[in-house]
Amino acid sequence: MSHELTLKSIEPVTHDTHHLVFDRPEGFDFEPGQGVELHLLKDGWEDEGRPFTPVTLPDEDTLEFVIKSYPDHDGVTEQIGKMSAGDKVRIKGPFGAISDEGPGVFIAGGAGVTPMIAVLRKRLRDHGTLEGSTLVFANKTVDDIIWRDKFEAMEGLTCAFVVDEPGGDVPQQRLTRDYLRQFVEPESRCYLCGPPPMMDAVREALHEIGVKDDRLIEEDMG
Ligand SMILES: Cc1cc2nc3c(=O)[nH]c(=O)nc-3n(C[C@H](O)[C@H](O)[C@H](O)COP(=O)(O)OP(=O)(O)OC[C@H]3O[C@@H](n4cnc5c(N)ncnc54)[C@H](O)[C@@H]3O)c2cc1C
Repeated sequence: MSHELTLKSIEPVTHDTHHLVFDRPEGFDFEPGQGVELHLLKDGWEDEGRPFTPVTLPDEDTLEFVIKSYPDHDGVTEQIGKMSAGDKVRIKGPFGAISDEGPGVFIAGGAGVTPMIAVLRKRLRDHGTLEGSTLVFANKTVDDIIWRDKFEAMEGLTCAFVVDEPGGDVPQQRLTRDYLRQFVEPESRCYLCGPPPMMDAVREALHEIGVKDDRLIEEDMG
């Protein structure tokens, strides 16, 4: 089933990422963490659907997205960064593998944090605290970190931000087995989302720690 939405507002989140707010369409239901296929209703772009993940909860009045633009792709996300209030999109779905399965270690790379936002917000609303959950969030630079202040303000959530490039107040650190071991035990439930090379490296590290596939909840952003 598809739904047409009108953009209410668009605000920058980082230098290349925007927060987009739409009215929630009637009859559209989804689980926090699931994605939709989004089409811009703009000449020449209608057929180019791309997957994105609402960061709002199903019972909220708005449907909101946090979307990173890649201008070098000459693709849909570049166009999304240029949208303005009143522009229209069509969404299809929902679909996706990530949903709330309990507290755990949420390991994200870049825009792969968006399903985590939805699940963490749901858990916070349902339980009042994220005690027992950790967010491990990897980015290229400190300026690429989406929603850092919002994550740090989430009651009970342990946050560990790491970056590839030096500069800023965040450790320059890869998501290796030895790094992840301080947050992850063999029985930990691990949510994993990011670009395919990051997913492969982290999955391997988690296996080395002893985490079995049935404790992994994952979706790649590729
Ligand atoms: C389930 C799911 C949920 C997602 N949710 C979100 C979300 O909530 N927020 C978010 O920001 N992202 C999310 N993503 C990622 C998002 O879907 C992609 O960033 C988006 O599809 C990229 O679209 P694009 O048209 O801009 O670029 P692409 O579709 O990657 O590329 C468009 C064109 O550019 C070319 N191209 C591709 N890579 C390069 C390159 N490196 N250099 C030059 N040209 C290139 C391609 O060949 C193509 O012709 C999600 C992905 C999945 C799978």
